[in-house]
Amino acid sequence: MNSWPTLYCPPLSPAINFKPLKVATVYGERSFAEFESARMYVCGITPYDATHLGHAATYLTFDLVNRYLRAAGTSVAFVENITDIDDPLLERATRDNLNWQDLAASQIDLYCSDMTALRILPPDSFVPATAVMDLVSTAISKMQANGFVYLVDNDLYFDISTFLSDLPIPLETALAIFAERGGDPQRVGKRHPLDPILWLANKPGEPGWSSVHGYGRPGWHIECAVIAARYLNSEDFMTSSSGNTLIELQGGGSDLIFPHHFMSAAQSKALTGKPFAFAYMHAGMVGLDGEKMSKSKGNLVFVSKLLADGVDPMTIRYALLTSHYSADRMWSNEILTSALSDISNLRESLSRELVAPTDSVISKMADCLADDLNTPAALKVLQEWHRETQNGAVGGSPGELARALDSLLGLAL
Ligand code: ZN
Repeated sequence: MNSWPTLYCPPLSPAINFKPLKVATVYGERSFAEFESARMYVCGITPYDATHLGHAATYLTFDLVNRYLRAAGTSVAFVENITDIDDPLLERATRDNLNWQDLAASQIDLYCSDMTALRILPPDSFVPATAVMDLVSTAISKMQANGFVYLVDNDLYFDISTFLSDLPIPLETALAIFAERGGDPQRVGKRHPLDPILWLANKPGEPGWSSVHGYGRPGWHIECAVIAARYLNSEDFMTSSSGNTLIELQGGGSDLIFPHHFMSAAQSKALTGKPFAFAYMHAGMVGLDGEKMSKSKGNLVFVSKLLADGVDPMTIRYALLTSHYSADRMWSNEILTSALSDISNLRESLSRELVAPTDSVISKMADCLADDLNTPAALKVLQEWHRETQNGAVGGSPGELARALDSLLGLAL
């Protein structure tokens, strides 16, 4: 599927000595030092509602990874999926009396325009789940042959028992989250309460696809495992073409640590025999004015609404960069106002002919990003440069700094 227009990332001058990107993950620190190329899979939206700031913060995080690795000379293959068939989408379509496909198409369009405004580099492949139904079915057959699949009534389940030692959280916590987020730990006939659904037999009135497993639709986790295998590996989609893992990076919001990323990784390993990702990175959640932002509270802040209200997308981007990506953070009007003031300062200094030295600023900014994407520290370096410029320091190149800001932080000022 078409995503959104690509962006030019200007080369950095002077040449920077890029440090290897290091990131903190649920399984410990990971360094991208050894990779000349990286395969990055980011879990995309379920298109039943507009892009809120939590989504924006997540996609911005992986955009920073993408920009840093590319600037440092690593080639990046980037795939993002769209969960365009799922319960929340069907429920919203029924509630609003809409055709579910029309609802999905309209929300995907809106998402793409939000990503364009925020200057997120587009994925190489933007893949709707509905485009891979045959591959999912083939993958399930292979996992069945490998002994990981069983039937409960007409539904197929994945046997998770072999993979429980990879759980990134205690089993008790996993069971509670699984029940909370639409899992079915109590269903009679399941071998383990955490076993996830692989293929759901069609329910009356719901869409489905024909397959050797009956008429129905897949579970969410297998879709991502299959899309990552197919679109980030060039040979047979069920075997990794190179490396010790199927891909280098899987990304998403921290609400995907369990069950989604854990289950996708387990299913991928059952399919290919290889560990799924070298690094699993997660962006923190965004709240509003001291409260969790959620659909049920009705306090979601939508990117499209901010843009319609005349907020400069670069101010939204800058405001999101003021917190560390992995931290749960609060959004408020004050954060936006402060970002606007910081951006105006930078624009003012960048428009001058004589500015404080910029080489060391660009290097320091890159070092901050290499250190687990420490954007708050990178922004401090920039504001310090602004103060020095205002105090009359000279010797820098505003053009070089502007290009570095564009390339590394995606800030076109
Ligand atoms: Zn996913």
